[in-house]
Amino acid sequence: MDERQRHIRALAGEKRALILAHFYQTMDIQEVADVVGDSFELARQARQATHPLIVLCGVRFMAESAKLLNPDKTVLLPAPDAGCPMADMVTPDDVTALRAKHPDAAFLCYVNSSAAVKAACDVCCTSSSAVRVARALPHREIVFLPDQNLGHFVAAQVPEKRFHLYDGYCIVHHLVRAEDVRAARRAHPECLVLVHPECPPAVVALADFAGSTAEILRYVERREADGFLIGTEVGVVERLRATAPDKRVFLLKPSLLCRNMKKTTLADLAHALETGREAVEIDAALAQSARRTLDRMIALSL
Ligand code: SF4
Repeated sequence: MDERQRHIRALAGEKRALILAHFYQTMDIQEVADVVGDSFELARQARQATHPLIVLCGVRFMAESAKLLNPDKTVLLPAPDAGCPMADMVTPDDVTALRAKHPDAAFLCYVNSSAAVKAACDVCCTSSSAVRVARALPHREIVFLPDQNLGHFVAAQVPEKRFHLYDGYCIVHHLVRAEDVRAARRAHPECLVLVHPECPPAVVALADFAGSTAEILRYVERREADGFLIGTEVGVVERLRATAPDKRVFLLKPSLLCRNMKKTTLADLAHALETGREAVEIDAALAQSARRTLDRMIALSL
């Protein structure tokens, strides 16, 4: 740890703060965090936190989820303009319009959505819990939003239910093409290809494994292979190089970088801890409805 990182750890101790960081954060942020995880793990950690202060190094919907799950705590988002373009693709009005079209369906929203959209839905999921949640729902019909690609991935594994998919997408994963997988395999024929289910179905179909960031990390750590081509955000490759230096890992495509996830800097984190800014606030009535969808996800995933 360098001096700035030691300063942050000292501040975290002084303020009794729990620092949570997503796997897509830069390595200097991951190194100072108490917990590094995917959306599901960060939500779980936020829910059980006993610290008075939670600092979420990620994007806004993650900080909102932490606040929803543990409303008595102060939750800070050190980079307040770090949003998720996919989450912004759907609004509560869109959900209302879809409810009129599909009155018997359960509304399953990806955690990458605003608190207002969660409040308008029935249950939430992360990429690691989506299949389990969809199977566990009593409904035979499901509207899945906002990610069309994760929706395809879930629908393929839960064929007994009828899915209606919203047309949102992740601006990073959606740009991976089947041709990118073929080109990467030509360059590294010895490697296994692992992709995130936010990639299009044609990409998932060509991969050796598709799973959440945490599942990809576990797969590489446990599996012997001559190399791995990673089709998700570059932060996962950087983490693997730090935690599993004996493994050969390559990024499937150079553009796999989420600019929003890279907005948090050590200076932002120190500033948040020093000043208590930016605290996430959610309207109480809306928070109650949105919390229900997250609690239901956790109950159905256990
Ligand atoms: S990687 Fe995609 S889904 Fe995740 S925060 Fe960035 S834009 Fe949103």
